[in-house]
Amino acid sequence: MNSWKTQLIQTCPDTTFRENESLAHHTTVGIGGPAELFCIVTSKDECTKVLQAAVGLKIPTTVLGWGANTLIADRGIAGLVIKNTASEIRVLTEQPTASSATAIDARWKAATSDSRMPQFQDIDYDENDAERVVVDVDAGAALPVLIQQLVQRGITGLQWFTKIPASLGGAVVNNIHGGTHYISEFIASVTVLDASGTTQTLSADQLEFGYDYSRFHHSNEFILSVRLQLFRGDQQRAQQVITDWSRQKQKQPARSLGCVFQNISVEEQAQLSLPTPSIGYLVDQKLHLAGLRIGDAEISQQHAAFIVNTGAATATDYLELLKRIHAAVKVKFGISLKPEIFFKGFKPEELAFITQL
Ligand SMILES: Cc1cc2nc3c(=O)[nH]c(=O)nc-3n(C[C@H](O)[C@H](O)[C@H](O)COP(=O)(O)OP(=O)(O)OC[C@H]3O[C@@H](n4cnc5c(N)ncnc54)[C@H](O)[C@@H]3O)c2cc1C
Repeated sequence: MNSWKTQLIQTCPDTTFRENESLAHHTTVGIGGPAELFCIVTSKDECTKVLQAAVGLKIPTTVLGWGANTLIADRGIAGLVIKNTASEIRVLTEQPTASSATAIDARWKAATSDSRMPQFQDIDYDENDAERVVVDVDAGAALPVLIQQLVQRGITGLQWFTKIPASLGGAVVNNIHGGTHYISEFIASVTVLDASGTTQTLSADQLEFGYDYSRFHHSNEFILSVRLQLFRGDQQRAQQVITDWSRQKQKQPARSLGCVFQNISVEEQAQLSLPTPSIGYLVDQKLHLAGLRIGDAEISQQHAAFIVNTGAATATDYLELLKRIHAAVKVKFGISLKPEIFFKGFKPEELAFITQL
């Protein structure tokens, strides 16, 4: 065994490490080669300890949450991969500061006008008059479980994100959207471990939230926990949203990574006189690519913004379909689509199509 592995294992005796763990088992799409070294951490303290040891030993480290938004190369990931399942919830008594939510690009809102997608406006409502409550949650918490646990305790606000496969940390990294809401509306601050191994707390206005974007796209920090500003709201109404929205979200293909590209901007939509900025609409109705297969990877016929693994698809198959969509949109509409997923373990030249085309 390499010396860095031996040293890490000795420094963290309470954590179980595995060599060459298949990461396909840890992604929703079921694709991904092995992690050179892998562990699952179950508490914030354990996560901090392993991360600090890895920083000290200069081991390249990747954190995975639910694995719902990450395409992992067939060759796998070098260094250490940590799957974070730390999920403690701490309800605080202090009053939150006023929300610092900023206005974010409206293209997600407009996308719901695609009549084949779940419609959100019928169940949306405003909770801002309700009493506020502040909750600290570890970043590995499974979002669907967290939402249910909070609502059962009378704490509402996150019901809009029902059925989104995500860890809370992953949800913050990509500022997930549910209907007309972004999770950034509910974030007060985030505690991170930075590249020097130091923990620090960042307030919401330092997080650079945007459409599918936050500072964690470039900062190389690990999110340990998230402070949420929620409501003592209408428990029954929130539960009804969970029920209704779950039913609608079931239409989305689960063995996937969600939408693979961001929707086009409202300006691009207007320029092209399209009825919606939805990528699913472009791919299906304008390019007629739904159902296109490479190996076992297929552009979903149910929702053409998703690429599904119908059996034993490889990352190479998946990436090739991504390239086909990217190239077709560029040729027909002159637009360079931005991926909505993360790539791990790929060489820069394998991803060059994203910037070159
Ligand atoms: C069926 C389906 C439906 C979906 N529906 C939606 C939807 O409605 N709205 C939406 O916005 N998204 C949706 N998605 C996309 C996905 O659920 C979100 O992007 C989610 O945020 C991914 O979280 P995750 O924990 O799985 O992240 P992962 O895939 O595990 O990680 C994503 C990135 O975040 C990094 N990361 C993870 N945890 C941490 C951490 N603690 N600290 C620092 N970096 C971290 C990873 O290294 C990686 O770069 C859907 C996906 C699927 C498969």
